[in-house]
Amino acid sequence: ANQQKARRIAVLGSRAVGKSSLVIQFCENHFVESYYPTIENTFTKTIKYRGHEFSVEIMDTAGQDEFSILSSHQATNIHGYVLVYSITSKSSFDMIKIIRDKILNYTGMDNVPCIIVGNKSDLNIQRQVSEQEGNELAAQWHCPSIEASAKHNENISKVFDLLIADIEKVNNPPPED
Ligand code: GDP
Repeated sequence: ANQQKARRIAVLGSRAVGKSSLVIQFCENHFVESYYPTIENTFTKTIKYRGHEFSVEIMDTAGQDEFSILSSHQATNIHGYVLVYSITSKSSFDMIKIIRDKILNYTGMDNVPCIIVGNKSDLNIQRQVSEQEGNELAAQWHCPSIEASAKHNENISKVFDLLIADIEKVNNPPPED
């Protein structure tokens, strides 16, 4: 039998950037116009990557601000992080930097597998963060970045494919030449 590899992913970011919408679009293939998570929710989905099946647990969090403290289950035993901002909110972009610092502090690591997601790409007219700013941050963090729309299901599955690739890069680094 094909053994599935288990991976745990946490979705973090300011409130209302579309974390739940993104996770629900990916796991259940629909867009929820108004969804109020009072607590954390965990979803499971099988992702195929390079011929391997990954059983992925996706933890959707309530949202963070500069004062929130990461709980141990949000920061430990996590293979990779989806750091979500909204392209319509500069403060949500700044928040993912604060959140990543908290993760690094908590885990004592210099770097963690993650992907930067600029959600609500359909709201280009209200844009406050350029695509270049997202790319520059990703270059600094050596991680992928992508703009996506949970509403229009644009680039949503790519978010998770790219993150799994980033996680596997750490677990199975390609041979050096
Ligand atoms: P969360 O607090 O980060 O989990 O955010 P939600 O998923 O609850 O979304 C917050 C609001 O943004 C809701 O009204 C969603 O319908 C809306 N929303 C989420 N994703 C998108 C998107 O890609 N485009 C647009 N236009 N609205 C979105």
